[in-house]
Amino acid sequence: MGAPLPAESEREPAAGRTLPDYLPARMVNEYVYCPRLFFYEWVEGIFVESADTIEGKQQHRRVDREGAPMAAPGEAEGEWKTRSVTLSSERHRLIARIDLIEGEGRRVTPVDYKHGRPRETAAGLEAWPSDRTQLAVQALILRENGYECDEGIVFYQETRQRVRVAMTPELVEETLKAAREAWETARRGVMPPPLAGSPKCPGCSLHPVCLPDETNWLRGVGRDGDERQLSLFGEPVPRKPAMSEGGVRRLVSARTELRPAYLDTQGLRVGRSGDVLVVKDEDKVVQELRIHDLCQLNLMGNIQVTTQAVQALCEEGVPVCYFSRGGWFYGVTTGLVTKNVFLRQMQFRLAAEPWFCLRLGRQLVAGKIRNQRTMILRNHVEPDARLLAEMKRMAEVAVRAKSLEELLGLEGNAARLYFEAFGGLIKTGEGTDVPKVFRLDFHGRNRRPPRDAVNALLSLGYSLLAKDLTVTCYAVGFDPMMGFYHQPRFGRPALALDLMEPFRPLVVDSAVIQAINTRMITEKDFVQAGPAVVLKPEGRKAFYRAYEQRMDTLVTHPLFEYRVSYRRLLEIQARLLARYMEGEIGEYPVFVTR
Ligand code: SF4
Repeated sequence: MGAPLPAESEREPAAGRTLPDYLPARMVNEYVYCPRLFFYEWVEGIFVESADTIEGKQQHRRVDREGAPMAAPGEAEGEWKTRSVTLSSERHRLIARIDLIEGEGRRVTPVDYKHGRPRETAAGLEAWPSDRTQLAVQALILRENGYECDEGIVFYQETRQRVRVAMTPELVEETLKAAREAWETARRGVMPPPLAGSPKCPGCSLHPVCLPDETNWLRGVGRDGDERQLSLFGEPVPRKPAMSEGGVRRLVSARTELRPAYLDTQGLRVGRSGDVLVVKDEDKVVQELRIHDLCQLNLMGNIQVTTQAVQALCEEGVPVCYFSRGGWFYGVTTGLVTKNVFLRQMQFRLAAEPWFCLRLGRQLVAGKIRNQRTMILRNHVEPDARLLAEMKRMAEVAVRAKSLEELLGLEGNAARLYFEAFGGLIKTGEGTDVPKVFRLDFHGRNRRPPRDAVNALLSLGYSLLAKDLTVTCYAVGFDPMMGFYHQPRFGRPALALDLMEPFRPLVVDSAVIQAINTRMITEKDFVQAGPAVVLKPEGRKAFYRAYEQRMDTLVTHPLFEYRVSYRRLLEIQARLLARYMEGEIGEYPVFVTR
C-alpha cells in the first residue's frame, strides 16, 4: 500500500488549475438545478444532446437573431427592445447573454426564453427556481451597467406563457449565494455527489454520464444491507446514507440507437454531402450513411476519407477508427469529446501508484477468470469439474495477489486452462477434406499472425473490442494509453486493454463461438496469406455482424439488475472506473456475469 492520497473532502485544486474570468448566468441556473450538472458542464466541459436540448437550441436560434444595438443608460427615450445582448459584471464576475431586453428609458426588463413549461403551484404559475436565479443574474448585471431593473420575465415556449419574476432582495441574496457556491465548487475541483432519487434526473440530459442511482447505490449500502463502502485509499471511511428511494432506476436506455459502420472494400472513398457520408467505389456511389445515425466509422484497410467528412464526424462526436486490412487496430480520430483534463490528471497520478495498479489489476483479472469459467460452464459439451474448480481457485487467488507479476502469471495460467477447454465450446469443424488450418476446431491460442481459422477470428475480435474500449476511454475523458494492470508500453492502448479483460470471453469469445456454431462463418471464409490465416472479405463482413450482434445483446447487470447491451455496458463500466478513481465510490465493480 502506498502513501494515502487525500480524501475527497480534503482535496485542494490541482496546481496550475485556473478558472475563467466570468461565471455565465446559464451556469448559475445549472448549479441551482443540480451542482453536479454544473460541474459536468462548466468544469469538465461535458455536454450531451437530448431531444429537449436539440429542440431548445432550435428555439433559441430563432430568438437569438440580433436586434437593434442596445441604447446606453439614459440615451434611449420611450419604449425600446433589443435581442441577444452579452453583458458582464466585474463586481460579481458574472456574464450573461440576454435573449431579449425590453426597455423604457433606462428601466429594463430582461426576458429569458426557456424550453418547457412553467411550474404550477397553488398560487398559480411560477418560474422554476433555477430560471429565477438566471434572471436575477441578468438583472444584477444590467444594474451594474447603469440600468434600472426591478423584474424579469421567463417566456416558456411550450405553453407560450410569460411569467414575471420580481427582483426582491431575497432573490438577489439567494442568487449571489448560489454564484459564490458555484465558484467555490469549481475552485475545489471536486465533483459534487449525485442527487438521491431526484425527479430531476430522468429529465437531465447528462444522466447516462452521471449514473446518479448507480453511483449512489455504490456509495451506500448493498441491498442485502452489507457494508460495501471501502476507502479508495486503504482507510475505512464512514458509511454514507443509502438512497432514500432504495433501488436503481433505469435511467440509461438499454441500447443505443446509433450504429457503427464498417467499410471493408479496398479502394473505397468516403466524402460528405450535407449530413450524409457518401461512399464511392471509383465513381459509383455504393452506400450513403446518415452521420446522425452513426456512433463509429470503421475503415478496414485502404479506404480514403475526405477532410470534410472527418470534420463533420468530429463535430458530431463520431469517431473514425482505422484498421489494417488484416484487422490490426491502428488508431482513432475523435473530436474534442471531453474537456475533462482533471480526470486525466487523476489517471496519471494513480497510474504512478503501484498499490492502485495492483488493486485494480486484481479485480480485473479475477473478473476475467470468473467470466472465462462461466463461458465453459455454460457452453462446453462436457465441462471438466476439476478445471472449473481450479479456475475458481485461481480467481480467488487473484484477488489476494501480491504483485502485478504474480497476477500476470495467474492470468496466463488461467488462460492456458481456459483455451485448453475452448475447443469443447465449438460444435462444428470436423470436415476431413478441409485443410487443417481452415478447420473450425481449436487446439490452442496462437497469434501475430494467427495460424488457423479460429485464432484468426479471435484476433480480429480482440482488435474490435480494443477499438471499442479505446473509443469509450476517449468518450469518458481517459487517456486510453495509460493503464494500470497493463503498464504503459509504446503504442499499446493500455487502459483500453485493462477495461477489456473481463469482457474478452463475454463479447469476443462468445461472438466467435456463435459465428462458428451457427455457420455464419465456415471453412470457406478463410485464405492462407504467408504464415497467416486470414478471413476473406465475405467472412470478415459476417464476423463484423456476429460481433455487433453480440455487442447488441442485452445482459442483466448483476448489481443494478437492469438489462443493458454490452455496448452500453462498456461505457457504464468505464464511467464507474472514473467514479472510483475520483474517490466517489469505494471499489471498482468489475463486471462479472452470473
Ligand atoms: S442526472 Fe441527476 S444528479 Fe446527475 S447531473 Fe443530472 S440532475 Fe444532477
